Amino acid sequence: MAFNLKSIFGDASSRFIKEANKTVLKINSLEESFLNLQNEDFPKKTADFKERLNKGENLDNILPEAFALVREASKRILNERHYDVQLIGGIALHSGKIAEMKTGEGKTLVATLPVYLNALMGKGVHVVTVNDYLARRDAVLMGQVYNLLGLSIGVVNSQNISYLYDPKHTETEEEKKISEFKIQYEFLKPCSRREAYYADITYGTNNEYGFDYLRDNLVTSVNEMVQRDHFFAVVDEVDSILIDEARTPLIISSPSEDSSDFYTKFTQIAKIMKRDIDFKVDEKLKAISLTDEGITKAENELGIQNIYTEKGIKYVHHLETAVKAIAIFEKDKDYVVKDGEIVIVDPFTGRLQPGRRWSEGIHQAIEAKEGVKIQRETRSSGSITFQNYFRFYKKLSGMTGTAETSSEEFFKVYGLEVIVIPTHRKVSRLDHGDVIFQTEKGKFQAIAKKVKELNKKGQPVLIGTISIEKNELLSIYLKQEGIQHTILNAKNHEKEGEIIAQAGKKGAVIIATNMAGRGIDIKLGGNPQIKEEYEAVKNVGGLFVLGTERHEARRIDNQLRGRSGRQGDPGETQFFVSLEDDLMRVFGAERIKTMMGRFGIPEDQPIENKFISRTLEGAQAKIEGFHFDSRKNTLEYDDVMNRQRTSIYERRQKMLKADKEEIEKFLEQIIAEREDAEKIIEEKRNQIGEANFLETTRRIILYVNDALWMEHIEAMDYLRSSVNLRAYGQREPIIEYKKEGLKMFKEMEVSLKEQVFSLIQNMNETEQAQAGNIEIEKTEPLVVNHSEVKEFSDTKDLSAAAGVGRNDLCPCGSGKKYKKCHGA
Ligand code: ADP
Ligand code: MG
Repeated sequence: MAFNLKSIFGDASSRFIKEANKTVLKINSLEESFLNLQNEDFPKKTADFKERLNKGENLDNILPEAFALVREASKRILNERHYDVQLIGGIALHSGKIAEMKTGEGKTLVATLPVYLNALMGKGVHVVTVNDYLARRDAVLMGQVYNLLGLSIGVVNSQNISYLYDPKHTETEEEKKISEFKIQYEFLKPCSRREAYYADITYGTNNEYGFDYLRDNLVTSVNEMVQRDHFFAVVDEVDSILIDEARTPLIISSPSEDSSDFYTKFTQIAKIMKRDIDFKVDEKLKAISLTDEGITKAENELGIQNIYTEKGIKYVHHLETAVKAIAIFEKDKDYVVKDGEIVIVDPFTGRLQPGRRWSEGIHQAIEAKEGVKIQRETRSSGSITFQNYFRFYKKLSGMTGTAETSSEEFFKVYGLEVIVIPTHRKVSRLDHGDVIFQTEKGKFQAIAKKVKELNKKGQPVLIGTISIEKNELLSIYLKQEGIQHTILNAKNHEKEGEIIAQAGKKGAVIIATNMAGRGIDIKLGGNPQIKEEYEAVKNVGGLFVLGTERHEARRIDNQLRGRSGRQGDPGETQFFVSLEDDLMRVFGAERIKTMMGRFGIPEDQPIENKFISRTLEGAQAKIEGFHFDSRKNTLEYDDVMNRQRTSIYERRQKMLKADKEEIEKFLEQIIAEREDAEKIIEEKRNQIGEANFLETTRRIILYVNDALWMEHIEAMDYLRSSVNLRAYGQREPIIEYKKEGLKMFKEMEVSLKEQVFSLIQNMNETEQAQAGNIEIEKTEPLVVNHSEVKEFSDTKDLSAAAGVGRNDLCPCGSGKKYKKCHGA
């Protein structure tokens, strides 16, 4: 018997929906009884629910009533009544699943149902959005509903800015100035980070949640921690967050020593290296490997005999990085140079990622390549992958228009099942087959012609490209045809929400990178919507989405398509591709070319061919598989770190909370290992008094724990690159990494005890006498972005923190006196 996975998944969805439909009937039957509620009754209902939960009822029990109440609230406040399919989506989210709902189906509103229900538990519910703006927008829109229901709403934005929803708060002049596009500080009252987290419901980006978690594990007192439980999260655009963004971990770091000369030197060497002679490029893997000739060349340039033995892995790594920066990373595609800085372009959205930096020296190598100022390297003081962060939540759920093609990954990595929710209205969008050209030039000419044709009859066109460079190139072709258009690329992304919102206007032509303005609804006829204009655009066929290149992932192509045909509106989509596109060049173009030759098709002639489209999709599937494996790989490595991180952070938490038992346990461990310890510890205890002794010891443990952990993270990073080199010796790198990693971790535990003991021995009577009363100086708030690092204050008063005398050994373990090291 042959199993068809797809039909199994399909069955799971339909079984789920069949069950959920019964609940929908219950919710619908309650509707009438809620019609008579006064506005003041809503918070009372909320209080009732909470009490029932307290008395032992469970959430599933009160779901129908709670959903019916939210629907009633939304009807009154937003004039939007949750459709039945939206209720089903809400049930799927509450069940900890991914609800696949097409763009425009109203996922923002869907989320209110499970969010309200779960917030009744009083443990906080997190809604995760892809950017700060959407966090604010959704909090303000849906905040009105939650507010009527009597729940509080917080927002966590980047730069440590937080808000509480407050219907009485009006926008100040200052806030108007910082407003990016339209929305909206109206109703958002600035508050502390912790207040935003202690609201019933919190809206924020994945980055902020992850960073706050890491920051919470760097604070020096419990009062500075901002997050509470990781109870329930609803992740909007879940594929973007849990898959696309999950390729790189979040890192918090501090700057380390200057090594810009180093990078300049290696870049000079890399520039004289010749492709295919000195190094080879693997385009699929985006990797390079140096040849013997290349190594010899480098050795000559550096004036050394054998780089491996004389300088070691670190030098080879730097050399490879420099070559990679030149051979693989392309200006205006992978990054742009803006105001003397290298700014990363997100490969999926085409957006600039200011402040974000590539790790492992790549960023510095590109800075050297472009001759801009080389920023200092940084030391990581904490890092986590999104995979491991989001696994903390007791219940996790997500929604997106495009999950199904990644259902295997969602299930394997996060244990999340995808439920495909039917659309509210029948989709009447026309997806045309690909048109294929032999050359890129032919393709662009054809696109310009097509757009002209569509534009003539007033049909709005949204053109999606995969890079900024292509955006500008295409714009030239459109100008030649005299077509008025707007370019929307990473260079003016502040306005993108506003521009995208108008993409459905009659005669609009917009060129945008892939998913610019994600999460913004495109209404036919423009926004706000006027009936006549809507009808006019509808009559010419709705929004035409024109893709200019297939993306590496089918999912991203589907997202682009999904911009058209919302809520049963008419619309069309089509991809124009050429054999010169990256995807084709790397995967399988040769075969197609010979085929076309065999068919005798002239070069400039477009072809619509099922076989070629299939080959393209095959290539995409191959690349998707490759990326999946690489994320799995990242995760396997992070899993090793995760166990260590959890154990370190747990100890930290206990020390922060001044868990006396834990401190004593730690001291016992020291005593168990060294005979002389007991006597010395007891002496100190008597000398400075029990309370002071414990408090100082606590601070010492905390400090040494952090310092060693930071060193350990770095060591593990090096280990990771070196096991990959060792893999040539036929050993499985991950197994080596696990083995060595564990060994290093144990060693760290040993040094931790030794260093703590040595500091205890050096506890100085007079200084210690006050240690218990010293308030640790408050550290600057850490400001960081995904994979990037901004400087943060690392200058907390260590002597106050750990009770170190100026002539004592520095607690960082350098072996220098404190006054000559961190105390300098
Ligand atoms: P999605 O996130 O699924 O793409 P949005 O949440 O942005 O969709 O909603 C798209 C549009 O649909 C919004 O303008 C919203 O106001 C509208 N909408 C959603 N649900 C309803 C409803 N039940 N009744 C009327 N309008 C709705
Ligand atoms: Mg949305």
